[in-house]
Amino acid sequence: MTVYEDALATYEPVFGLETHVELGTVSKMFCGCSTKFGAGPNTHTCPVCLGLPGALPVANEKAIESTIRIGLALNCSIAEWCRFARKNYFYPDMPKNFQTSQYDEPLCVEGYLDVPYGDQVYRVGIERVHLEEDTGKNTHVGTSGRIHGADYSLVDYNRAGIPLVEIVTKPVPGAGAVAPEVAKAYVTALRDILRTLGVSDVRMEQGSLRCDVNTSLNRPGAEWGTRSETKNVNSLRSVERAVRSEIIRQAEVLNGGGRVKQETRHFQETTGTTRDGRSKEEATDYRYFPEPDLVPMAPDPAWVEQLKADLPELPAARRDRLRDELGLSNDDLLKMTNAGVVDLVGATVDAGAAGGEARNWWMGYLTQKANESEHEAADLPITPAQVARVIELVASGELTTALARQAVDGVLDTGSEVDAVVAERGLKVVSDTGALEQAADEAIAANPDVAHKVRSGKLPAVGALVGAVMKATRGQADAAAVKEILLHKLRVDA
Ligand code: ZN
Ligand code: MN
Repeated sequence: MTVYEDALATYEPVFGLETHVELGTVSKMFCGCSTKFGAGPNTHTCPVCLGLPGALPVANEKAIESTIRIGLALNCSIAEWCRFARKNYFYPDMPKNFQTSQYDEPLCVEGYLDVPYGDQVYRVGIERVHLEEDTGKNTHVGTSGRIHGADYSLVDYNRAGIPLVEIVTKPVPGAGAVAPEVAKAYVTALRDILRTLGVSDVRMEQGSLRCDVNTSLNRPGAEWGTRSETKNVNSLRSVERAVRSEIIRQAEVLNGGGRVKQETRHFQETTGTTRDGRSKEEATDYRYFPEPDLVPMAPDPAWVEQLKADLPELPAARRDRLRDELGLSNDDLLKMTNAGVVDLVGATVDAGAAGGEARNWWMGYLTQKANESEHEAADLPITPAQVARVIELVASGELTTALARQAVDGVLDTGSEVDAVVAERGLKVVSDTGALEQAADEAIAANPDVAHKVRSGKLPAVGALVGAVMKATRGQADAAAVKEILLHKLRVDA
């Protein structure tokens, strides 16, 4: 039994997630500063987002609208009246010494998201969706890279005040040994919804979507245990690893007769484990109080109804439609869901590809590429439209499957368009029979043993010769044609 299986034999895990999403608005939450990523330090700042005396905030209507749309897509009730609150604490990346957030009066409450995993659907309760602002960014200069031992620290306030939506789940019990995978599936499903809504670019690697992962263990039938909170988990894979490593760590603590501390922990990408941080603050430590500089929000119910009516087709509905249109079995759909390619296949079909081909590419070669680079398929630098173009070139006979894979490799390596890669790398089917005949002769001459086998009736052996010719022509020949030429030369009837 592995350590993990051992832990699961004794304890039941409960997880929960707090997800922060940077909205893709043009301007910041409470001022007109640009939200554009990558500008020079402190160039997108003003008295409001620098917290200068006397500066007054004005709420960004687009950000409120986006938050309501997220709430609606997550089946939440929208508050008819709510307020911002000050969350008071000092940190150098937050010049006001408080974060404008929401506390006891969030904009959206009591929703859920149905998350398919394995052959089950897990209903993840959504406790709240609220609106707040991001902080600036500290850079600690020195060998440690951390504040302790830094030579000096720099702070960039460009990110301070960018609208941030926080989505908090209820605790999710009942997933047992697949709790890590279900946690990851939840974030995947949430990201798909946010992408479909067009409210954020949801790039985990750039920090526009980041998760805090809560995990606890209890013995069957007992009360839920004390939870730990793992901060700023920045990839889907890390969400899964964070839950798994906390299950193992907490089981060891409990088995040793110890108690799990309520604390925040930091996920370490290199080891896939967490290390301890500070002991967790209580809400009262932040001295929340209603923000006096902003008027309450009271979204007009008619406006909310309109936003609801205008929601795009959400991923779950889209999945069902794709299943019906492509005639997929539930099992197929499930495999595609687990591989994270359903929406990619859908978008490839929308871009003009045949369903079967789109499915084969995403479930086959592209999933393989994603695994090799430890990415999710969705994070591969190739778009559904580009995949559809590759499929089109194969269908028209301009590329063989082997060449098409080279074209895909080229797009992944260079970020160029498919046709540019095809032109640059000279990818085209060799239909010049003379060239193929010559390559076939060379392959036979170089592999007399194989040729002898084929001549004496062991036809499958011809595969090695086909491979040699394909290699010699850099995959540019049509494998079926090559086989025919070889068999003809060896005077064997297929
Ligand atoms: Zn500003
Ligand atoms: Mn927050």
